[in-house]
Amino acid sequence: MGKIWNFKQELTGAFGLPIAENPTQYMIESAFKHHGLEWRYLSLEVAAGDLADAVKGARAMGFRGFNCTIPHKVAVIEHLDGLGESAELMGAVNCVVRRGDQLIGENTDGKGFVQSLRALRDPEGTDVVIMGAGGAARAISVEMALAGAKRITIVNRSEARGKTLVSLLRDRVKVDTQWVHWEGDFEIPVTADVLINATSIGLFPDVDARVPVKEEGLRAGLVVADVIPNPPNTRLVRAARSAGCQVIDGKGMLVNQGVLGFKYWTGVDPDPSVMHAALAEVFEGASR
Ligand code: NDP
Repeated sequence: MGKIWNFKQELTGAFGLPIAENPTQYMIESAFKHHGLEWRYLSLEVAAGDLADAVKGARAMGFRGFNCTIPHKVAVIEHLDGLGESAELMGAVNCVVRRGDQLIGENTDGKGFVQSLRALRDPEGTDVVIMGAGGAARAISVEMALAGAKRITIVNRSEARGKTLVSLLRDRVKVDTQWVHWEGDFEIPVTADVLINATSIGLFPDVDARVPVKEEGLRAGLVVADVIPNPPNTRLVRAARSAGCQVIDGKGMLVNQGVLGFKYWTGVDPDPSVMHAALAEVFEGASR
């Protein structure tokens, strides 16, 4: 009997603007190939005003799921059929999953971070300082609280965003939280176990931008994490490494949120080393 061809591939992707420099497609498709899955992950440029049509299109074309990035993480919610627990708490979705006929919004950004942290330290009982109060800070702080962090300090320039996040953490996640207005170089408290840059400072092309913290406060025993995926070896990451801190870079978080999305869509636990290697090719110019 001849070979039975199947030209229909399962579809996933990312909706965002900008999207062209987002390396997720290469990372996820490397894992599809490694695991022998006939699936595709498409980087789709979707403007804010076209989101409703894009989600309708994804439904019509039977997408198994898709990531949402800037500017869609909040706006997508009204087009979905339901939300997972942390996406509901955060009010933001970065990963949509088709379950039966329904599109359900999940958030894997913070979960990916917590998974990276667990390789170094148990989040339970930690004293955490988070720089920034945007989407990444919101996702990380909620998941850290759900994972048992003892205390969370939000350090941010804009009072409105900082206080909104603190209210969410206090009222809905019931964690001990305070807001610190970020002016000048922030002094890292000696009680801190984990310091996280969740701002966009250091993101390409502003690769030499400095996160305003007093670097003499970087010390062995402190875990320092930076969400910036491109380039992962930020100024903060370099300073923290040379001060003897344990360091998590933005590549680890990107891989781990991808691992979770991959599992949600396909049911398969992907090999993270394949995804790390794919990102290393992209960011560090290793040969293909
Ligand atoms: P948002 O725009 O929602 O938030 C940005 C935050 O950064 C705000 O709190 C803003 O402060 C702060 N900020 C920006 N510039 C400065 C500055 N010069 N000084 C002080 N604070 C500053 O962005 P997101 O939270 O969605 O994304 C933040 C970063 O996280 C991005 O670089 C993104 O690439 C990265 N990210 C990485 C992921 C990964 O998997 N590695 C996943 C998700 C995001 P203010 O409120 O005062 O304006």
